[in-house]
Amino acid sequence: MSGSFQTSTRLQTQVVVSMAGGNQRVCLIGAGPSGMSFLYQNEKLKAAGKNYANVVCYEKQSNWGGLWNYTWRTGVDEHGEICHGSQYRDLWSNGPKECLEFPDYTFKDHFGKPIPSFPPREVLFDYLKGRWNKYDLRKYVHFNTTVKHVTYNKTTDDFTVLTKDLASDHDLPPEKFSHVIVATGHFSVPNTPFFEGIDTFPGRVLHSHDFRHAREFKGQRLLIVGSSLSAEDISMQCRKMGSGEVVISYRKKTMGFKWPEGISERPLLTKVDGNTIHFKDGTTAEVDAIILCTGYLYHFPYLPESLRLKTDLSLYPAGLYKGTLWLDDGNNKVFYLGMQGQYYSFTMFDVQAEWTCAVICGHKKLPDRKEMETDVANWLKRLETLTDIKSEIALQTEFVCDLAREVGSKYNFNFNALFNKWADDKLANISTYRDQVYSSVSTSEQGLLHHTPWLSAYDDSLETFINQTPNKISQ
Ligand code: FAD
Ligand code: NAP
Ligand code: MG
Repeated sequence: MSGSFQTSTRLQTQVVVSMAGGNQRVCLIGAGPSGMSFLYQNEKLKAAGKNYANVVCYEKQSNWGGLWNYTWRTGVDEHGEICHGSQYRDLWSNGPKECLEFPDYTFKDHFGKPIPSFPPREVLFDYLKGRWNKYDLRKYVHFNTTVKHVTYNKTTDDFTVLTKDLASDHDLPPEKFSHVIVATGHFSVPNTPFFEGIDTFPGRVLHSHDFRHAREFKGQRLLIVGSSLSAEDISMQCRKMGSGEVVISYRKKTMGFKWPEGISERPLLTKVDGNTIHFKDGTTAEVDAIILCTGYLYHFPYLPESLRLKTDLSLYPAGLYKGTLWLDDGNNKVFYLGMQGQYYSFTMFDVQAEWTCAVICGHKKLPDRKEMETDVANWLKRLETLTDIKSEIALQTEFVCDLAREVGSKYNFNFNALFNKWADDKLANISTYRDQVYSSVSTSEQGLLHHTPWLSAYDDSLETFINQTPNKISQ
């Protein structure tokens, strides 16, 4: 084992930490898929008898899973903290499960049999939990504990972290750490633009962060603002659940899908006048509710400015070596997981976590600063060459495979062909793309054909989904 000092309990006063070689004490913030991947990779090192880190994970929610820990709450949580959850009840995976499958823990490993390619929310969460339960990772997580402040101490080259026990409203004693990992996600704090007249709109106005249940909008005509994945999926969900007509308003460009009857796209709205929405092209539409699917802000209220990532959604946020290590301050001891725009998700977080673990535990040496800066600059240059979704997918594939190479992974993380098929399937028919099947890169096994087309599948329970008769209905 790597650390010679004991991990302090939350109620102990400050532990004096010796930072002699190999004595890493890591503060991990967030127990969503990214944070849990770090715990998993670290435990893997431990199980292999290799140098590993002492980790204390703080999670402000009462359970792990991050966004996958579904909540009915909106606004603030039971403790008055900003409610983290942005997922909705009827959410199904918007990418094939084969594109987020862990090579060392496949869906076949977890469910013991083939299942269709686009699982509902509960099924994916079950899969994640299965991998985390493989090792007893829960014991590392301090639940209901929010990180309030992180300071980098230049003289001692370590960090002081302030936390609060939310259940008792009790500030906990400061803790010292050698490294900090930020894994608090970036799809939680809504970006909420203002449009003239929206403040006097007579119906409901909400951000997709607060969207929980499409049935709420049954019979209502909707304006959806935005042209990305939330706009697309919430429009489809609402029509599926019986909403009235949906008008999607885009800023830069249309999504260009062949929408089912009742969904159409218009350029950006110019103003709201009562129930009437005016658009740039001079047209108008009458709506009953407005859903702003206008994305999220990167928000790290607990980090000082010198450690704080500031970026728009990007496949390669500036300032992070290998998309992960914070170069600005903190002496190469602050890491960010999962901060990219996400085609790849779970596997990308996992390989980032493995790389972070290797660096922290001394299995991977960092090059000198100049080389790291050049590497970042090269990736940023690559960003400028992106022209379409397939070039974006190709870049993220390269990013993930580069990290996998860095850690000497024996697994294949190249899901480029699968993602390209997915992009083609969506373009071919946005209503049926979730009915398609894909083959696992790890097992070569093909997903099952779902018993019911997604558009008419209302039962999204785990039991129904995993207990289906193979290929019962051909399409
Ligand atoms: P999160 O899941 O956001 O977890 C961050 C954790 O940090 C949370 O548990 C939070 O409580 C905790 N935290 C935050 N602040 C603090 C603090 N100060 N102190 C302590 N803890 C804190 N991805 C897919 O692969 N497939 C999908 O189908 C899919 N659907 C999505 C649907 C929606 C609506 C959204 C918004 C995202 C979706 N995603 C999907 C992407 C999603 O970002 C990832 O799947 C994943 O949840 C990211 O994991 P994470 O750990 O980086 O962040
Ligand atoms: P996003 O990808 O960041 O998109 C934000 C959208 O808002 C963009 O289209 C942007 O327009 C628009 N926008 C921002 N500011 C605007 C303004 N002032 N006026 C008009 N439009 C504005 O955010 P998202 O769509 O919420 O997706 C976030 C994540 O959630 C994604 O990773 C996605 O995979 C996930 N998700 C998954 C599912 C699922 O089915 N499983 C469902 C929903 C979301 P421009 O393009 O013009 O900049
Ligand atoms: Mg996390």
